Amino acid sequence: MMKRFWVFLFACAPLWAWADNSVDSVRVWPSPDKTRVVFDLSDTPDYSYFTLYQQKPYRLVIDFNNTSLKAGLENLGKESLLVDKIRTSSPKNANSTRIVIELDSKSDANLFTLPANESYKDRLVVDLPGKSIERSGPAKSVSELKDRRVTVAIDAGHGGDDPGSIGPRGTYEKHVVIRIATALAKLINDDPGMQAYLIRTGDYYVGLNERPQKAWDAKADFFVSIHADAFRTPQPSGGSVWVLSKRRAESEVGRWLENREQQSELLGGVTDILRKNGHEPYLAETLLDMSMDSSIAGAYSAAKHIIDEMSAVTEMHKHAPQAASLAVLKSPDKPSLLVETGFISNPREEQLLTSNAHQQKLARALYNGIRRYFVSNPIDNTYLANQSSFTYTVKSGDSLSVLAQKYNTTVKAIKTENNLTTSSLKIGQKLTIPSR
Ligand SMILES: [Zn+2]
Repeated sequence: MMKRFWVFLFACAPLWAWADNSVDSVRVWPSPDKTRVVFDLSDTPDYSYFTLYQQKPYRLVIDFNNTSLKAGLENLGKESLLVDKIRTSSPKNANSTRIVIELDSKSDANLFTLPANESYKDRLVVDLPGKSIERSGPAKSVSELKDRRVTVAIDAGHGGDDPGSIGPRGTYEKHVVIRIATALAKLINDDPGMQAYLIRTGDYYVGLNERPQKAWDAKADFFVSIHADAFRTPQPSGGSVWVLSKRRAESEVGRWLENREQQSELLGGVTDILRKNGHEPYLAETLLDMSMDSSIAGAYSAAKHIIDEMSAVTEMHKHAPQAASLAVLKSPDKPSLLVETGFISNPREEQLLTSNAHQQKLARALYNGIRRYFVSNPIDNTYLANQSSFTYTVKSGDSLSVLAQKYNTTVKAIKTENNLTTSSLKIGQKLTIPSR
C-alpha cells in the first residue's frame, strides 16, 4: 500500500473495514505422514498463529492481518484423517480473518510462506505432521529372508501443489506419472522376485530429499523416479533415462560427509561399527565412495536395459543414459535413476502419455528393464539371484536371436528349454528364458 493511503486508513480504520490482502483459495493435500494446507493469497501473508491443544477439538488458529477471506471452506479436509474441518471464527478486528483448523490429533505444525511465482500466488503453507491417509501395501522388512524379493522404490514425480510440467492440452505431469508408477508397481508385485514401494500413493507432494529417504526407510534395492519432460517449443519428443553424474555428485557427497549424523545415516550403521572399532573416519568415507561407485555403475547398467526396453514401445530422445546431479538420485547405497517417459510439451506425445494403453506399455518396459538388471546383476539371497529361468511373453518383432541377445543366452538354449522344433514364434507365446 502506498504511504498516503496508509495515513488515510489509519485515520479511518475504526469506522470501516479495509483489508489489503485476501485469502483467495485454500487447498488441502493429505499424504500418509502429514497433511499440507496451502492458503493462496493476493499478497505476502501477514499472519500469526496459536494452538488450542488442551481439549478437543484440537485447534490450530491462524490470524491473517489486514486480510479478507474470498475462499470457500466447505468440505476442506474431508479426505484427511488428521484435519476434521477448516472454518472461520471471530476475527481480532474488522480488517483481519481468523481461520481455525480442527484436528483429530495434536500436530506439531510447521508454518512457512512461499513467494508468488509463475504458477502460484503468495502462499502460506501449513504442514501438519500425522497420519493423514492410509498407505496401501507397505514394504515388508524381508532382508532377513533367504529368498527375499528385491524392493523397487517407485517415485512418481511431483504431486499435490506441484503439477510438474503441463502439456499444451492441459495434461498435468503429476497425473500421468502416478498412473505409470501404479501400473509398474502392479507388474512388480505380480513378480515373485520383486516387490514395489510407492514413494507417493496419491496426489500430494513429497520433498525432493524426502523421496530417497523414504526409499532408504523401505530398505529398497533400487530407486526409479518417473517423470515426463517438457520444453518451451513443441518439437522435442521421446524418452530419456538419467543417472547421477559422479563428478558433480562427488563434491556434493564430500560436503555431506562433513556432517557426521548424515554420514551414519547414509551408511546405515556402518559408520557406527567403524567408530566403535577405532578406525579412522577416512575409512568410512572410502566405504561410502565405493558404495557410490557401485550404485552409479548399477544405475548405468539398469538404464541401458530400460532404454533398450523403452525403445521397443516409444521414441527415445536420447539413446544413451544421461548424467545429471539431481536430488532424487543421491542415494549412495542403491542404483537410482530417473526416467523421462516422453515430452508432455509435444502435442502428439501428450496425447500418447494420457492413453492408458501407452502408460501400460511404458510400465511394462520399465518392469522388463529393471528385471533384466536384477537378473544380470543378482543380489545375494534374493529370489531373482537364485532363479535359473523366467517366463517371457513373445511380443511383435521378437525373434529367438533377438531374445537370446537380450537375455545373455543362446538360440539353442531357448529352443532346448522350450522343446521348440522351429525358430518361428507367435505373439503371446510363453517362453521360458534360461538365465545366462
Ligand atoms: Zn518432472
